[in-house]
Amino acid sequence: MSRVWNFYAGPAMLPEQAIVQAKEELTDWLGTGMSVMEISHRSKEYDALHHEAMSLVSELLGLDDDHHVLFLQGGASLQFAMVPYNFIPKGGSADYINTGAWSTKAIKEAKIIAAAREAGTSEPDNFTRIPAFSELDFDPNAAYVHLTSNNTIRGTQWHEFPSTGGVPLVADMSSDFLWRPFDANRFSLIYAGAQKNVGPAGVTIVIVRKSWVETANDDIPTLLQYATHVKKDSLFNTPPCFAVYMVRNVLRWIKDNGGLTAMEARNRKKADRLYGVIDAHPDFYRCPVEKGSRSMMNVVFRLPSEELEATFVEEAKANGMVGLKGHRSVGGCRASIYNAMEPEGVETLAQFMEAFARANG
Ligand SMILES: *Cc1c(COP(=O)(O)O)cnc(C)c1O
Repeated sequence: MSRVWNFYAGPAMLPEQAIVQAKEELTDWLGTGMSVMEISHRSKEYDALHHEAMSLVSELLGLDDDHHVLFLQGGASLQFAMVPYNFIPKGGSADYINTGAWSTKAIKEAKIIAAAREAGTSEPDNFTRIPAFSELDFDPNAAYVHLTSNNTIRGTQWHEFPSTGGVPLVADMSSDFLWRPFDANRFSLIYAGAQKNVGPAGVTIVIVRKSWVETANDDIPTLLQYATHVKKDSLFNTPPCFAVYMVRNVLRWIKDNGGLTAMEARNRKKADRLYGVIDAHPDFYRCPVEKGSRSMMNVVFRLPSEELEATFVEEAKANGMVGLKGHRSVGGCRASIYNAMEPEGVETLAQFMEAFARANG
């Protein structure tokens, strides 16, 4: 196999173990003579896979009995609408913390459906940091507080979550779900499009507090109600079977490799290596993010000129490292180093960055 080091932000690199298993089982899954894409979602084989994937999420996070795992479609973007549809009551309002493009989109959707206010923002600082807890101003009557745990485009990340004083906490964890252990039971709802850290595009993992779902609005279309999916274990309609299968393979890989504690150690080491190179070359590389807000998943950095950035991306590609161009809305460079990125890939990039600075600085 000829694989590159893939630094794309999403869809992103998957663990080789997960891909190889899929390749081996593609034409004949579990002796059925079919692939997982061709078999009924009501078959006992699919049912077992579906529930194994759910149980693995619960087990890795230590979820309590009131938290339910869902596999939905429509991406994280549909969650921007489903959350307010379900949980903002008539005449009510929700609080949002605005830390970049994805939060801004979530706020826009909430405002189409109901009322939403900003309980904090780092927009005046160009989203280069996460607001301090002391800057947050929560409405005690808000239906919920929404935050984006990792800002994929800006390269910022919440390292601790604020206390909301009893108001339900909701998080978009699309780009850092399962990167480390955390108290998921504190959250009333978590959603994550799988294609960054947990699998391929096509499935969105949602964790929701069942007792909260019981209070949700029920005058909205059936498929948009969380209650529908909780009741039917995400088998109300055809689930994205192949995407769920790949997520299961990735979850097994996480478990086989020591679970979330091991993921955190591995991820911190990788991020430290890259930020170390950036900080050691202050005249050449610059990370626009405030130190305490740096993301362990998406390392963004600038070079002295846009021309050098273009050359950097090009030469990296020639050396087997792809996906290093920053998001088109902000420019610069970005190395996405999710769970699946091997330390060896990061080491290869770090050495390339050192050599590039020496040659062009
Ligand atoms: C990628 C991303 C999204 C959008 O996800 P889709 O699955 O494409 O809808 C939302 N939020 C964050 C934080 C993301 O990184």
